[in-house]
Amino acid sequence: MIRSHGPARLAAGQVPDCSDTRSMTTQQELAPLDALARAAGPQLRIDPDGRVRLTPSSRGTLADGLLGLLIVVRDAQEAGVWQRLKICCNPECRWAFFDRSHAHRGAWCDMASCGNLIKNRNFRARQR
Ligand SMILES: [Zn+2]
Repeated sequence: MIRSHGPARLAAGQVPDCSDTRSMTTQQELAPLDALARAAGPQLRIDPDGRVRLTPSSRGTLADGLLGLLIVVRDAQEAGVWQRLKICCNPECRWAFFDRSHAHRGAWCDMASCGNLIKNRNFRARQR
């Protein structure tokens, strides 16, 4: 995939909002996903090596595709890595990335592009 990085539009001295929006998701917002999960009926499969897998049906519908994404989310939650999947704090980017930082405080999809862009912009704003 090709990513483009336009200039950030933060006001002078403004700190990007990097709050975890998942904690602000309401039950009402999640209701359509819950309805999809209930209606799509994920299936249990047993691999030849004995591993139990949860899969969407093989109908190839949009609902099956979305259910496949929900299964990935469930797997990430079970593995304890869901909170490390983040949205880039560059408001012009908002790319999803996996936070591999030791402290789990990563804010940018890529420091060389988004991180430096925002940090330099904030630094110049403070110099004025
Ligand atoms: Zn980014």
